[in-house]
Amino acid sequence: MTEKINLYDLDLTELTQFLEELGQPKFRARQIWEWLYRHYTADLSDMHNLPQSLRDSLAGKACVSQLQIVSAQHSSDGQTEKILSQLPDGQYIETVLMRYDKRRTLCISTQAGCAMGCVFCATGQMGFFRNLTAGEIVAPVMHFARQLAAKGEHVTNIVMMGMGEPLHNFANTLQAVDRLTDHDGFNIGARKITISTVGLVPAIRRYADEGRQTPLAVSLHAATDAERNKLIPINKRWPITELMDACRYYIEKTGRRITFEWALIAGENDTVEQAQALGRLVQGMLCHVNLIPLNPTKGYGGGPSSREQVEKFQQVLAQYGVGSTVRVRRGIDIQAGCGQLRDRVVNG
Ligand code: SAH
Ligand code: SF4
Repeated sequence: MTEKINLYDLDLTELTQFLEELGQPKFRARQIWEWLYRHYTADLSDMHNLPQSLRDSLAGKACVSQLQIVSAQHSSDGQTEKILSQLPDGQYIETVLMRYDKRRTLCISTQAGCAMGCVFCATGQMGFFRNLTAGEIVAPVMHFARQLAAKGEHVTNIVMMGMGEPLHNFANTLQAVDRLTDHDGFNIGARKITISTVGLVPAIRRYADEGRQTPLAVSLHAATDAERNKLIPINKRWPITELMDACRYYIEKTGRRITFEWALIAGENDTVEQAQALGRLVQGMLCHVNLIPLNPTKGYGGGPSSREQVEKFQQVLAQYGVGSTVRVRRGIDIQAGCGQLRDRVVNG
């Protein structure tokens, strides 16, 4: 049996071609597009304005990928929800919904596992399995959009901070961005989707050249090579000087601010010396620093910094004129950190 096409994997041109091959006029593609991305319809049989014969023939050749949800959890404050879903080949992906005032932010995955091996990260600890297709990246967004729509709400922001390294799956990630920002479809603003990268230097430059409006976050976590090498193995390939050059290139090309992510690990990268080194490194750059106390993981001994240390770190940054915010650790009680739910479900 040939595998069915996941309709989320097609862009509008491909969908139109696909329907033309089925002898259908162009406007059918647009109708289906609207069912998929405006009504979040997951079932072909619910696409009422398509002739029954078309729905039947589509059902034999295509599908709208459904999430096989293996585990769904809500944080005790009810604000964060996390799902672990299984793909047809058995791979797992995680998605987190965070409610904050009127914002409904989804944290989505771009790969099953991750090849980058950052020592503190649950996804890095499990290794790499495979890239997700654009359709697999998009499917969880439609799942939550459907769920929110039932309450009159909608997805306001998306962060590519789930499992995987988005720029290591460059083409599919950008295709997913296109799918989600399409004005005739899901139509979320490009500025509302943040791509987070561990710092793949050539890919950052390529991304800058694309001139996209999607904001970029760079996971820095250390301001000296000696410290960053310990936490982020790919720093040995692209050390901090090269990374910062690429970041400056991005800012020049796009005129956009970069967010530097920094997981504060007690006694490791939360020292005054690291704060000073960071201050010197990014002083005068169009950037912002996001500090997030480490989410402890099974495969790494480090713990989160104390509140006093976080404040001290921020004060040092302020002396260099570097703005920072401390991100609230959301959903800690439901393993909402990157890769943590899969680890609990699969490895117990
Ligand atoms: N691969 C990309 C995006 C996914 S990780 C990247 O690394 O940027 C999303 C963010 O979560 C990154 O900033 C990453 O460093 C951070 N992160 C991973 N594990 C963490 C943990 N245990 N505690 C706090 N932040 C963590
Ligand atoms: Fe991969 Fe990002 Fe985790 Fe590093 S922090 S292992 S790049 S998912």
